[in-house]
Amino acid sequence: MRKITRRRFLFYLIGVAASLSWVKYFIENIRGGSSVSEFNDTRTGATPPARVEPEKEAMFYEKAGGGKVRCRLCFRECLVPEGERGFCRNRQNTGGRLYTLVYSRPSAVNIDPVEKEPQHHFLPGTEMLCFGTAGCNFRCRHCHNWHLSQRSIEEVGSYMKITPQAAVNLAVEKNIPTVSFTYNDPISFYEYVYDTARIARRKGVRVLFHSNGSFRPDPLRELLKYTDAVTIDIKGFSEKAYDNSEARLDPVLESLKIIGLSGVWLELVNLIIPGLNDSADEIRRMCRWIKDNLGPEIPLHFSRFSPAYRLTHLPRTPVSTLEEAFRIASEEGLEYVSIGNLPGHRRNSTFCPACGNKLIERVHFEVRSNRIRNGKCPGCGHKIPGVWE
Ligand code: SF4
Repeated sequence: MRKITRRRFLFYLIGVAASLSWVKYFIENIRGGSSVSEFNDTRTGATPPARVEPEKEAMFYEKAGGGKVRCRLCFRECLVPEGERGFCRNRQNTGGRLYTLVYSRPSAVNIDPVEKEPQHHFLPGTEMLCFGTAGCNFRCRHCHNWHLSQRSIEEVGSYMKITPQAAVNLAVEKNIPTVSFTYNDPISFYEYVYDTARIARRKGVRVLFHSNGSFRPDPLRELLKYTDAVTIDIKGFSEKAYDNSEARLDPVLESLKIIGLSGVWLELVNLIIPGLNDSADEIRRMCRWIKDNLGPEIPLHFSRFSPAYRLTHLPRTPVSTLEEAFRIASEEGLEYVSIGNLPGHRRNSTFCPACGNKLIERVHFEVRSNRIRNGKCPGCGHKIPGVWE
C-alpha cells in the first residue's frame, strides 16, 4: 500500500474540499431542476450562481469596435461583446477590456507522477505539482474531466487563491521538480500558466503543460520560452474526430510544427475511441504526418478509451485495436510508441529502438526500473532523446 506522507495528506484534504464544493453545487443547482446538458450547452458561459469579479487583464486580445474585443489566444478568435464571455467561459469583456476569470483560482491541485501526463522521456519516476481550473476551449464529448472543463468558475468553485508565486513556492517547499498545467486545457488559463512558468524558470522548477494544442502561434511561442516539456493530444487525424470536440485539426498541426522547431521536449497522446478515430487508415496517416513533420523520435502514446461524459454508450477500446495501432506506428517508423490506460501491458514500457532492450519498465504510471544511463541505452549505447536529469 502507498505510504501516506504529510504532503499527500495535505493534498487529499484539498481534494476532499473540492469534491464537497462540487457536491454542494450539484445539490443546489443541478438536482434543483436544470439538466446537465443545459449547463454544458453554452458558448458564453452558463448562468452562474454568482459572478466572479475579473481582476487580471488578459493577454493577446484587441479592441474590435462597439465595445467588443477580439481574443487572439486560440484558434477560435472569439469576438466578445461587452459583459459576455468567450467560448472557453474564462475570458470576459468588462468595459471593453478582456479579463481572465481564473487567474490564481485553480479548481484542481494535485501531486501526480509525471508518467500520468503522459511523459515517458521527461524525468521518469518523478512527481509534478499539477494545476487545473474551470473552463476549456474544446467540448470533447469523451472528456474525463468534464466536471471541470465544461463548467464555469462559478459552477466549479476554486480553492483559496494560489498566486503564481505561491504555486512555485509550494513546489520548491515540497521538493517537487516540476509544475504542470493539466486537467483542463492550459489555453483557457493562459495568464496563470505564463506567469507561473516565468517564476518557475527563475527558481529552477521545470514547467510542463498538457494541451489540445489549439493555440494561435504568438501566444504559443511566448509560452514555450518558459516551458520544458509539452504533451499534446491528437484527437484523431480527421475532421470527424475533431467534430467530437467542436474543434479543428489544422491549428493543432500548426502548433505541433512550432513546438517541434522550438526544442522544447514534446510527447503526443492519441486516445483511440471506437468508431470515431480508430480506422487503420486514419492512424497510419497520423503516424506518417508525425514522422515527416516532427521526426521518428517523438514518443506517441496510444491511450485506451473508457466510457465517460457524453460517450458512455461506447465500449472500451479493444486491446487488439491498440496493438494494431502500435504495429502501424512501428511500421511507419516511429521509434517510441507505447500503449496507455491498460495497466500491465508490455507496451507500458520503453524499449531501445536499436537493440530492443527494455529501458524503462513501467506498470501503468509506476516506474519499476530505469536502465537509461547518461541518456543512452546501456546495451548498445544508442542515444535516447529526452530530459533525463
Ligand atoms: S481563449 Fe477563450 S475567449 Fe479566447 S479565442 Fe479561445 S475560446 Fe475564445
